Parts: sequence; structure tokens; C-alpha cells
Amino acid sequence: MINRGLRYKLSPSSEQEALFRQFAGVCRLVYNLALEQRRDWWRQYNSETGRHFNYASQCRELTRLRAEYDWIAAVTQTCQQQALRDLDKAFSNFLRGRSRYPTPRKKGINDAFRFQGREVEVEKVSAKWSAVRLPKIGWVKFRDTRPLRGAVKNVTVSLDALGWHASFACEIEHFAPANTCPPVGIDRGVANTLALSTGERMSVPASLQAIERRQRVAQRTLARRKKGSARRLRQLQRCARLAARRARIRRDWQHKAALDISRSFGCVVLEDLNIRNMTASARGTIEEPGRMVRQKSGLNRSILNQGWFGFETILAYKLDERGGRLLKVSPAFTSQTCSECGAVESQSRESQAAFVCQHCGFRAHADHNAAINILRRNTASMRMEEGHKPPGEVRTGREFPLPENPQAEAGGGC
Ligand SMILES: [Zn+2]
Repeated sequence: MINRGLRYKLSPSSEQEALFRQFAGVCRLVYNLALEQRRDWWRQYNSETGRHFNYASQCRELTRLRAEYDWIAAVTQTCQQQALRDLDKAFSNFLRGRSRYPTPRKKGINDAFRFQGREVEVEKVSAKWSAVRLPKIGWVKFRDTRPLRGAVKNVTVSLDALGWHASFACEIEHFAPANTCPPVGIDRGVANTLALSTGERMSVPASLQAIERRQRVAQRTLARRKKGSARRLRQLQRCARLAARRARIRRDWQHKAALDISRSFGCVVLEDLNIRNMTASARGTIEEPGRMVRQKSGLNRSILNQGWFGFETILAYKLDERGGRLLKVSPAFTSQTCSECGAVESQSRESQAAFVCQHCGFRAHADHNAAINILRRNTASMRMEEGHKPPGEVRTGREFPLPENPQAEAGGGC
């Protein structure tokens, strides 16, 4: 069994859109009221009843609230229960130290509500259109951009800068086939987003940079607009639309690149990069200001623009589906090591793109050379040759958290 989320753009009528806003508003209110209850009233509740707030007790409170106010009862109860479930999850994450204390949901940011899978129905309308029946809202059309697979567990309707969307969480019956494709090493960089050990190079589309430039201009315009004015609000929406488009273009590329790679290779070796440490600000403190702060912030922006982490997550599940594996190795000195003779020499990196070994004279594209090293590092023999201690266990895919890696800053990661 595998879980997949499939997202579609909805095209609701104006009445349906009004209902969407009402549903999102009421669910947000229920969430915020329940948060307030847990935050401010738990002591009183505990002394009166001897119990603590949890999902079940807050569901009973919800039933009382629904009996009192018609406009709250007008929204499907299961949606409101899902909001309470989200809050319960947020609290258990907080108590286990996985996240911060839950914060109230805000209008314009958290405009979403969720139905359970058994409440909804999906039907094909034409070759390009389908419709989903949502309780108390009715049939809503959406562009059927890809087939819906498996059993629908739940449906989330949410609003972003590009409109209303429905995400179907599906559970799909799946048996991974035996994978006999060859292995590959991938070096992630800024000039070339991905360099494969086969010599192939892949980069994020140029339109991404163009849209980033437009976004920066739009941000500057926004800064000039008077707070609270209608023109500022319009400009804010313009900025949000550009940001959403940029994210969509990047995600689209990540999916395409990951699909290509997962189809042609069985085992993919990546560097174990700590992206948060790599993109830390060089600002420093007032007593000890950092150097080259602007340059570092520019590099950080380019690193983050490549979307390395998102790519890794997408690639991991695509490989998983095809019986492939994602392995991660230490990134130290991969770009300074010669893939022919194994000599480590910082002088060998002649320029950003060229690698010329100071010992054997081997010439290659720097990223290609690094990708070969990454692939080799997965086998024990090369680790000994390079004089590195073997990096302990090898981590795969998403089931493990990204480990702390103090070498990422100093090493030849990118
Ligand atoms: Zn060499």
C-alpha cells in the first residue's frame, strides 16, 4: 500500500465559492476556539470535570456549540471534526517536541477544510472535466489533469493565490517490481541543478529566474505602497500570485526530472546535504559582523531556488514505486577528489566548471567528476582510497530525518 496526494484545480460557481469561504471560515473558527479552550481553560475544565481536553471531549463541546448557533450547524460536522483532529495532532506534535506551540489559524493563509473519503463522490463529466460531490456544497467541476487512483481517504479543499484546489489523499494497492536498472550518482549544484555520473546535466528552467526577477520588482513596488490602501492589497495579491507560480514551475520540473531518473536508474546516490546549515545567513552579530553578507545571501537564494530538498522527497517516493532505492553519502571533498586516481587536491578545481587533476592530469566537467565520486563513495573500496572513514550507516529516503552534518559547510558540497 502506498499513499499519494493528487491535487486538482477546482472551478466552482460563484455560489459554491461563497460556500467554500463560509466552510473555511467556520472551520477556522472552530479550530481557533478549540485552541483557546486548550490554552486558557484547561485548568478550569480539569478542576470541574477531572478530565483533560482531547479530541473526544472537544467533539462533545462542538456538538453543544452547533446546537446553539445555526450558522455553525450550517457547515458539515465532519469538516469541523477534522479541524479538531488537526489541533489534536498539532498538540501531540508539540508535546513530543516535533513542533512549536500551535498558533491560531488566519484568514487569507489557512483557508481550507477537509472531508472524509466516504462522504465524497467523483464522476467523469467529459474527456477533460470531472466533478466531485461535496456534502452541502454539491457537484464541483475540476480539470481532470491526471487519473485518480486507488481509494480516496480524504479530500482537502484549499485556497491559494491561484484559486481553489482539491487534494485527494489516496491509498493505492501497489507491489514494487524487482528493479534491475543501473545505479547513478547525482551531484547537486547551482550552475547545473543536477549532474549525473553518466555525464548528463539537468537544470531548472530559465523561466524560473525570469519570474524571480519579476517578483523582486513587485516586492519593491509593494514596499512603496501605503499600508492599508487598496493598491497595496492589489500589489500584495500580485506578489502572492508570482510566488505561487514560481513554486508551481519548480515543482513541475522536479516531478519531471525525478520521473526521468527513477525510470532509467535503480539506485540513486545523493550527497547528504544539510541545506539549512548551507544556507545560513553570513550576517553574524553586531560585535562580530560577517563578511561578504550580500554575496552569501545571493548564493543562498540560488541554492534555495534549485529546490534540492523538494527534489529529494519526490525522487524518494518515485524510486520507491519502481522498486528503486535512494542512498545518501557524505558530501565531504566530492568536488575536490579526482575520479580517476582518487587524489584530493583543492587546486584541481580549476574553475567553477572545469576539473583538472594535479596528479594524473585527468580533465572533466567538475560536476560530472563529483557525481562519479558520489556514486563510487557508495562502494567501500573508494572510501578507503580517499582516506576517509566509512560514513557509518547509509541512509535511505524519507523515513529518516536529515542528520546533522557539520562537514556540509566546510566540505566541497557544491
Ligand atoms: Zn587524478
